Amino acid sequence: MYLVEDQYQRTFKTLRISLTNACNFGCVYCVQGEEVRKDLSATNTALTVDQLLRTVSELKTLLPLETIRLTGGEPTLFKELVPLMEGLSKMGISSIKMTSNGYLLADMASRLAAAGLKEVNISLDAIDVDVFYKVSRRKDLHRVLNAIEQCMRHGIQVKLNTVIMKGLNDSQILPLLYYAGERNIAVRFLELMKMGYYYSHEFERYFYSENKILNTISEDFIYTQQERIAGATSNYWMTQEGYRFGIIANESSPFCGDCDRLRLDSNGNVFGCLSENTAVPVYGILHDKDELIERLKLALSHKQAVQFKGSKLEMIAIGG
Ligand code: SAM
Ligand code: SF4
Repeated sequence: MYLVEDQYQRTFKTLRISLTNACNFGCVYCVQGEEVRKDLSATNTALTVDQLLRTVSELKTLLPLETIRLTGGEPTLFKELVPLMEGLSKMGISSIKMTSNGYLLADMASRLAAAGLKEVNISLDAIDVDVFYKVSRRKDLHRVLNAIEQCMRHGIQVKLNTVIMKGLNDSQILPLLYYAGERNIAVRFLELMKMGYYYSHEFERYFYSENKILNTISEDFIYTQQERIAGATSNYWMTQEGYRFGIIANESSPFCGDCDRLRLDSNGNVFGCLSENTAVPVYGILHDKDELIERLKLALSHKQAVQFKGSKLEMIAIGG
């Protein structure tokens, strides 16, 4: 029996830890307005590895945590990523996942696999180098493609995340589906989320809906929808060729109803929902179980009943 549950029987089963809000990419949907980010170098988080592990360990006593996803910012910039994964594995977390832009990943793949990384979502917004540059503001597509190969070679399951923006990279939907399908990788197309800059600017201009994504895929493929897994952000389809693709359609097919995600930032605060800008500090009160329960309940109360409404926070700050 778990103590932290809301009126929709939602609790927290997945913990997303944002290891840093630094990044070595400048994706326009994430950090619009910052042509060059100042903090390109590796940074350490406010919480040390031991402090992060202690936080997870205390949360685990109160929550039915099944999966931990390491994210950011760019989690591969976190210097002690391997010891952190080893610590999580020792704690008995069997499902350790990560979301990464892939830039630094190829050289780390074997060490991360040995430390317990089971699955990685690699962000890949284009397979054409010029379009890749327009979205990420970097010219290093080859590094990301190499990371995909290396992760697969070391037995880490790879999925691709592609945020589709109208007029910017919708031309990449079919090429990416061919690229992923031929390698037996699932690609998930994401509708743009109203976050950061897009909370109050140009959202309609760039929004490309689930329906439009499906129509584009229909130009080359016949597909059928698969059954949705409870708690999942993505709906999935399978083409006749056996290519599996997903769409994370925050606007068109909201998924708040059975959301089980809790976010922990690098300063020891939790967030129950991307819509809620208020950080709930937990690191300083880990010793006080009753208070921790109250704060987790508060974070849970921040979840939307049906649909994410947008946030001024950038994804890079809260952890995607
Ligand atoms: N740096 C890593 C990466 O890019 O994969 C992890 C952090 S990133 C914030 C996590 C995910 O959030 C990425 O897949 C990215 O595409 C997505 N994301 C960021 N801003 C978004 C937005 N406004 N709408 C939809 N997805 C967004
Ligand atoms: Fe960096 Fe990821 Fe945001 Fe791109 S989406 S700027 S890689 S944190």
